[in-house]
Amino acid sequence: MKRKVLIIYTGGTIGMANDPETNSLIPFDFSMIEEKVVELKRFDFEVDSTSFSPIVDSSDMNPEIWIKLGTIIESNYHKYDGFVVLHGTDTMSYTASALSFMVQNLSKPIVFTGSQLPLSTIRTDGKENLITALDIASSYENGVAKVPEVCIFFQDKLFRGNRTTKYNAEHFRAFRSDNYPPLAEVGIHIKYNDPYIHNVSENGDFSVAKKMDNNVGLLKLYPGMSLSFMETVLQTPGLKALVLETFGSGNAPTDKSFLNMIDKAVRNGLIILNVTQCLAGSVAMRTYATGVHLLEMGVFSGADITTEAAITKLMYLLGNTLSVEEVKINLNKSLKGEIYI
Ligand code: ASP
Repeated sequence: MKRKVLIIYTGGTIGMANDPETNSLIPFDFSMIEEKVVELKRFDFEVDSTSFSPIVDSSDMNPEIWIKLGTIIESNYHKYDGFVVLHGTDTMSYTASALSFMVQNLSKPIVFTGSQLPLSTIRTDGKENLITALDIASSYENGVAKVPEVCIFFQDKLFRGNRTTKYNAEHFRAFRSDNYPPLAEVGIHIKYNDPYIHNVSENGDFSVAKKMDNNVGLLKLYPGMSLSFMETVLQTPGLKALVLETFGSGNAPTDKSFLNMIDKAVRNGLIILNVTQCLAGSVAMRTYATGVHLLEMGVFSGADITTEAAITKLMYLLGNTLSVEEVKINLNKSLKGEIYI
């Protein structure tokens, strides 16, 4: 029996074509994908495709659309062996992170990809990205998927989705994963990095959590930030959790008024997760006195989590966990390989 992969086109540059009249990029009819990528007919597995309608530039992504995507995967889960999600690159890391938390008992590959140049342009990076993503999504060994994870394939590397960040708006290599090795490297061969792939078999039925609570904020510290600005953020109505992007290994100013504000917010029930502004490395709040203060106040360490994973993990936990205590316990755990504990 031939394996089957479903392509889900959500939007983004990869599916755009030049409008001959205006010379600007407009989406092409995705049912014509086989005309644009004739190689799709040469695979020894079957490829079907479906498209969002309307398609979404990834700057317009939101939790509702993540849930829509999860629902499409859930309703097709038993019909396909793998999924390729075509997505704009701008917020791909957020969607891949969110989906990694939302899916339960995943035993099939969900591979995100996109491109910097549309499929319709001669020098496109989209064709190779799509073809390799499909190859990975259909790869099984002894009946077990090679990569039963939510991941991102881009240019020559397959990454765990919730470890990625888009860091380059121009280069074909647009994503990086500084705190976790690639799950596969692609050249003449696709070399899977087996020890780093989550391949513990999941026994229960596959499902997708369909609640995300967006009462989550993000505050990036910078020298000279005014306290009144910070106070306004902390007093946002309904705010339940805040991702605080701190310096280096989790350090923040020692200024008393600043610390008092954090202390008061935590005592009023705000969950604060300390994440580093650095692309690589981990929060270690005991290293400097400037971090110890935060720890003593009850700020949580985000360890080596990305900002994208921190925000979506909190949205997922707040949406699906029964008590605040449970949310806090889960912040100190790796749910889907998003942190090293
Ligand atoms: N604006 C596009 C998006 O993220 C860019 C891309 O696809 O790379 O949807």
